[in-house]
Amino acid sequence: MGFEDQLTAIVGAAHVDVADAIRDDDTHDEALDGHPVRPRAVVRPGSTDEVAAIVRAAGVEGVPLTPRGSGTGLSGACTPVAGGVVVSFERMNRILEIDTANHVAVVEPGLTLAELDAALAPHHLIYPVFPGEQSASLGGNVATNAGGMRAVKYGVTRHHVLGIEAVLGTGEVISAGGKFVKSTSGYDLTQMVIGSEGTLALVTRATLRLHPRPEFHTTLLAPFPTIGAIASSVPPIVASGIGPVMVEYIDLVSMAGITANAGIDLGIPDDIKDVALAYLVIVLESHDATRLEEDAEALAEQIAGLGALDVYVLPDQAGAQLISARERAFWASKANGADDIVDVVVPRASIPAFLDAVSERAAATSSLVIGCGHAGDGNVHLSVWQPDADVRHTLLHDLMTSGLALGGAISGEHGIGTQKAGFLVELEDPVKLDLMRRIKAAFDPYGILNPGTIFDPAGSAGTAGSVGDPVTTAAHR
Ligand SMILES: Cc1cc2nc3c(=O)[nH]c(=O)nc-3n(C[C@H](O)[C@H](O)[C@H](O)COP(=O)(O)OP(=O)(O)OC[C@H]3O[C@@H](n4cnc5c(N)ncnc54)[C@H](O)[C@@H]3O)c2cc1C
Repeated sequence: MGFEDQLTAIVGAAHVDVADAIRDDDTHDEALDGHPVRPRAVVRPGSTDEVAAIVRAAGVEGVPLTPRGSGTGLSGACTPVAGGVVVSFERMNRILEIDTANHVAVVEPGLTLAELDAALAPHHLIYPVFPGEQSASLGGNVATNAGGMRAVKYGVTRHHVLGIEAVLGTGEVISAGGKFVKSTSGYDLTQMVIGSEGTLALVTRATLRLHPRPEFHTTLLAPFPTIGAIASSVPPIVASGIGPVMVEYIDLVSMAGITANAGIDLGIPDDIKDVALAYLVIVLESHDATRLEEDAEALAEQIAGLGALDVYVLPDQAGAQLISARERAFWASKANGADDIVDVVVPRASIPAFLDAVSERAAATSSLVIGCGHAGDGNVHLSVWQPDADVRHTLLHDLMTSGLALGGAISGEHGIGTQKAGFLVELEDPVKLDLMRRIKAAFDPYGILNPGTIFDPAGSAGTAGSVGDPVTTAAHR
């Protein structure tokens, strides 16, 4: 039986697309510099058993599998492999349980953040991980260790996934972790799989930690004369104990772009606009309206003393519009023809030094580089306009090297994917890379899970196992 027939036998003909039936959406993610690849087939399993059967069949045939959630990734990590099969989790999108006693939700990977949020609201609960794209799936969030604007208060996906069920590259199913915060019972396989970008296992279920849902929010906007002044203001703001839920910076050009794109006017007087080079946006939340008002006043006073040109407490609607516009910063850059984006993370106190390096490299390569970012946790998101691919490569390389030199990492949020695999292999410690490849080989001995992602295609063969060169194990005999 051909491989497509095997897939049909596992999931039914309605859930396998081949040839012209393959949707364009399934050939790429949202990476700006990505190149769509048409896979051999797209399969939509409906259960863990079906996922395991697909993986077992692919292992025997040596067919690469690319897991796919909602395709909102920004690093080409769910770009298919030519001759490979996309495993789309869109049918596995159920909430299996909202456990209000243990404050957890158990979900299938294809569920989106927006769907989860709508289901949690009536229970006055929240899953607080907030990457800017709410159509992203929980499976994609787990695989990329998604972060976002609320990380300064709540942390990222890694801090909220208590357990997973996953299918290894052998087709074996594991269940790790559970409805508890901590265990010390051997290696933590849940944490190993989080952030592995579909290269170690296919996640079929996740147990998520929930929090009480704060009722009241307020947004503060503070123009600053320099980004350096913003960065220096963040440690005292975090140290104030008020505990903001978002601490974002937006540079002058990005602010103009995202507010114009969203059609909002924040009412900032021209004399302030003329001298503001960057903006700090802070969101506070609380279960108590009076307490929130007091906190906002205290924080506004503190920010004014930290070098802000002014501080505005935005009316609710304007605050929500600004956050929504900030979420859409990526789409504004894309609409304006950005050639690439960079998501280097540095220790938050090093943001000014990193941005100095960015300005210097942008000028040296005649590139336009602008951005915004999660000032509270050092994540800098830069949009890059540089049409020459070679010059752009050099620029990106230099920006990543600068971030590393400051104690950062080349991707803080979007992952390595296929787009940054070459950079990782070039810039990462070879001892660590070799260990990663050995871990990959243990989870995925046939090398069928998302080849080309994280490790560059040429370098990944070796110990990680090559596609089409299956090693016979007990599970496959
Ligand atoms: C406008 C915008 C803003 C964004 N802002 C942020 C941000 O602030 N922070 C942030 O971290 N990210 C951000 N992102 C990136 C993206 O939304 C996240 O990376 C998200 O987690 C991807 O989810 P997805 O379902 O779209 O995954 P996909 O793009 O479909 O896949 C992403 C990765 O997950 C793997 N994968 C998917 N499902 C599974 C599964 N079930 N098992 C194993 N592997 C799987 C894929 O193979 C791939 O490696 C943003 C994206 C956009 C478009």
